[in-house]
Amino acid sequence: GTPLAMLASMARVAGAGAFVKDGVHMESLSRVDTVIFDKTGTLTRGMPEVTRILPVEGVDETTLLGVAASAERYSEHPLGKAIVEYALAQGVGTVEAEGFESEAGRGVHCVINGHMIRVGTVAFMPEDARGDITGDVGADAPVRPLDLSDAGTSFMNEQAAVQTTVHIAQDGRYLGCILLADAPRDSAARCVDELHRQGMRVVMLTGDRDEVARRVARQLGIDDVHAQLLPDGKSRALQAERQAGHRIVMVGDGVNDAPVLALADVGIAMGSGTDIARESADVVLISSDLNDVAKLLHTARRARRIIM
Ligand code: ADP
Ligand code: MG
Repeated sequence: GTPLAMLASMARVAGAGAFVKDGVHMESLSRVDTVIFDKTGTLTRGMPEVTRILPVEGVDETTLLGVAASAERYSEHPLGKAIVEYALAQGVGTVEAEGFESEAGRGVHCVINGHMIRVGTVAFMPEDARGDITGDVGADAPVRPLDLSDAGTSFMNEQAAVQTTVHIAQDGRYLGCILLADAPRDSAARCVDELHRQGMRVVMLTGDRDEVARRVARQLGIDDVHAQLLPDGKSRALQAERQAGHRIVMVGDGVNDAPVLALADVGIAMGSGTDIARESADVVLISSDLNDVAKLLHTARRARRIIM
């Protein structure tokens, strides 16, 4: 059975906006030393907005946007949804895509009018197309950094925004990229501060590229970053943290966070996250307020002191 003090603390925590599935998780929470956050949709709002369309020479913006939006039409990824929404708002039509498939942490591919279309990371582009990529600092491509000086005009300045680059290729040809900006959650910086005050080490995991990840980490005061991770890379990073002797809370929202939420000492899902993340987690943040993570840890430690 669950000790009364634990139950009481669970109720208090539920009042604060976190649902703890079992009392044993409060015990684990009281012994944690590291909090690992997923980036997109967890530290950031996960509601990216298109800020720039950058076609290569010979391709116009409307064509590039139309191809990307057609490919992403059935995408459940926030980046894909944002591209489709933007195309709709700009009055750019989409066409039917065949054989749509999405690859977690990489992008989507499909066939449009007989052409193989790929939308996603540098590494996801066909090899023949990669040489033409100039707008990214991918680990696998020697490239010229983008000038972001006039990007992020829509709802936030470049400082606050987190820019992600999505690349588009047709058959073996590079068509260009689309930049999207995602803002950190209002609760993110304060939560990291509070966790530090509690003596926690704060780490971020992301499938996004290193430069973007480091910018967010710097803004929020995060101690360590593992970037450019594929879904199984997230699991490996988490295993490495555990093998280094850390006791870990993992906070995530996405389909590809489900395995790491299950691997952590305690998995916490954002209420705004996917069903599978909420199912795999031990705790759900009902209102997706990151301050509830710090409150939860504080409550768990206090409860342990009362019992012992
Ligand atoms: P995170 O780990 O930060 O939540 P993901 O693992 O979901 O991010 O995605 C990692 C990267 O893969 C994204 O930054 C993007 O470049 C690319 N990507 C994933 N899915 C898509 C998609 N549907 N369309 C375009 N790019 C995608
Ligand atoms: Mg995510």
